[in-house]
Amino acid sequence: MLDFKDKVVIVTGGTRGIGYEIVKSFIENHATVILFGSRKETAIEAVEKLKKEGYDAIGFAPNLNDYESVRKTIDEIYKNYGRIDIVINNAGISANKKIEETTSEDFTNIMNLNVNAVFNMSKAVVPYMKEQKEGVILNTSSMVSIYGQPSGVGYPASKFAVNGITKSLARELAPFHIRVNAVAPGIIKTDMIANLPKDMIEPLIKSIPLGRIGEPRDVANAFLFLASDMANYITGVILQVDGAARN
Ligand code: NAD
Repeated sequence: MLDFKDKVVIVTGGTRGIGYEIVKSFIENHATVILFGSRKETAIEAVEKLKKEGYDAIGFAPNLNDYESVRKTIDEIYKNYGRIDIVINNAGISANKKIEETTSEDFTNIMNLNVNAVFNMSKAVVPYMKEQKEGVILNTSSMVSIYGQPSGVGYPASKFAVNGITKSLARELAPFHIRVNAVAPGIIKTDMIANLPKDMIEPLIKSIPLGRIGEPRDVANAFLFLASDMANYITGVILQVDGAARN
């Protein structure tokens, strides 16, 4: 059933874009939702914005690149709420520079957030999920994790790694009834895409067989499904939500 009553859900990168829509979707389905932002101020702003729209969420801002910071926040959440049922590792940054212009620092930064943060979050929640004898970890991958992309090599590299973490942890944690899956969005209308000029967007739309750019809600729906009991026998999948786009 798509009912998350009594479920505690954590969404990283929940302050805007896809993550914000995931937060709203789970609240609509009666979950207790905790969003993580990159800074305290952005987390507070997002919680206030949600409140104005009629949604109640809780905000935190651990440093996702630092295991100790993540562990402390996860410990606090477990102490306060008594459960952690679903963790959605959604925070991410992209890249599009050619390799000559990409610095080692650019490459490391993208790996730190898109990959190390997924490891840190998973490592911190798994002991609690094992204690509960159930749990769901979901990661935001990307269609570039299937096809690569012609610039910004760190971004597809990081999303291939996310798929690797997903498939490996799915096998490691299945005996403990912890399911691990990923959603691989195509081109989704977040701030990044909404601000692109029309002459760039139109050919992009034409190249998508379903004839439109994805909405954050299209992606959120896939997370709802994978987190729900309807997906009880699904683990280790990378679910493409891309209208069959091929970049
Ligand atoms: P966005 O830029 O709107 O949101 C990114 C989120 O990540 C924000 O909530 C931000 O607070 C958080 N974040 C950024 N840097 C952070 C940091 N250092 N520490 C903690 N949090 C940080 O982007 P989005 O489009 O909503 O992307 C969300 C996820 O979806 C990302 O993992 C992205 O790679 C993936 N994705 C997006 C698209 C797309 O077309 N928009 C396509 C495929 C995959």
